[in-house]
Amino acid sequence: MSGAAGPGILAEMKDATALTKEGQLLAALKELRDVRAALDEHSIVAITDASGKITSANDKFCSISKYSREELLGQDHRIINSGHHPKEFFRELWTTLAEGRVWQGEIKNRAKDGSFYWVDTTLFPFLNAAGKPTQYVAIRTDITQRKANEEALQKLTHDLEDKNKELEAILYAASHDLRSPLVNIQGFSRQLTRVSEKMRSTLASAQESRVSTSELRDVFEVAIPQALRFINAGVVKMDSLLSGLLRYSRLGRVSLNPQPLDMDALMAGVVQALRFQTEQAGATVRVDPLPRCIGDPTQLGQVFSNLIDNALKYCDPGRSGRIGVSGRIEEERAIYAVTDNGIGIAPEHQGAVFEIFHRLDPNAMPGEGLGLTIAQRSLDRQHGRIWVESRAGAGSTFFVALPAFFEKCSL
Ligand code: ADP
Repeated sequence: MSGAAGPGILAEMKDATALTKEGQLLAALKELRDVRAALDEHSIVAITDASGKITSANDKFCSISKYSREELLGQDHRIINSGHHPKEFFRELWTTLAEGRVWQGEIKNRAKDGSFYWVDTTLFPFLNAAGKPTQYVAIRTDITQRKANEEALQKLTHDLEDKNKELEAILYAASHDLRSPLVNIQGFSRQLTRVSEKMRSTLASAQESRVSTSELRDVFEVAIPQALRFINAGVVKMDSLLSGLLRYSRLGRVSLNPQPLDMDALMAGVVQALRFQTEQAGATVRVDPLPRCIGDPTQLGQVFSNLIDNALKYCDPGRSGRIGVSGRIEEERAIYAVTDNGIGIAPEHQGAVFEIFHRLDPNAMPGEGLGLTIAQRSLDRQHGRIWVESRAGAGSTFFVALPAFFEKCSL
């Protein structure tokens, strides 16, 4: 008989609905667990409470951070802070999360053993009914290798840029500086051709092959020796320019051996090696106690030898040369100063003295115009810098800045 269902049937129907609901709930829970397992398999996952304390850390997080789960739980993420990012970086991150928004970015972290790793990070805030975050889920991917590749690529690009600059400087030198001795050689070779043509026609028109000795004397004692002298000087100049170019171009290939340097000892060696030139110039060199730095001993020996040698070369003939070497620490840098009371350099020429082959007065002193160029390039490679402050007629100070060495420094 059909009609209203009795209480028994109703109870059964209720039970069935409950069963389906429970089934659905179980299925949803299983799906959630599966998604979580998949996430744990792929990513570094951590959950923090609203105050940022870690409440859950998966195996991947423990393995990359090298901390045990017990060490991580209850801590905040400062435990893996590498110090790489400025404070504003984290301020912006927390502001985004506090506003209930997702934060994404790349973070450099430090593991328990001090090694660094990079993670591509998504921080997701769970919000309550009022829109306030109650906890955060951090899902991260290890991108350390990608970052290392990027860094290597950046270094390669930087090296290529350096090489390019070097080539440009060499091209410039080749086109400008090699040209002037070449023009001389060309000119005096033409003069030799003219002289020999003249001699040929003189011989051809000479009666009974007789040529006047005064004509011959002029050719052999004046014209030919003069032309040969200029040609020879041009060849010597080109040879010195080319060997200078070669020296400069080799500089980039010399491998450096940076180390903590006792600059008092290094400078004493440099001054000692220049004793003869110092006596010849009638000059004195005073060296103050110097701070330590990190650099390549051979290259820095050459840099300071060049600076003191220049101070001796460009001294003022009107007064006895006084050269001083001093040093100081400024922030993380050791700054050395080589001061002379020589001829000085006018402000408009101060930048040019570092250019390849540039000499302010080419005939005043022997030299190639290469010493300061090489010093600049060598210091560049050692994270250093060189500059000059000078007053024409009063003297110059060449400054060299290098990374300072402190006892706690790690190379
Ligand atoms: P070089 O001494 O062989 O010419 P450098 O590159 O060492 O080459 O110097 C370039 C130029 O800078 C010199 O020719 C000179 O004109 C100027 N110069 C260098 N040092 C000093 C100095 N201490 N005082 C005055 N002029 C200097």
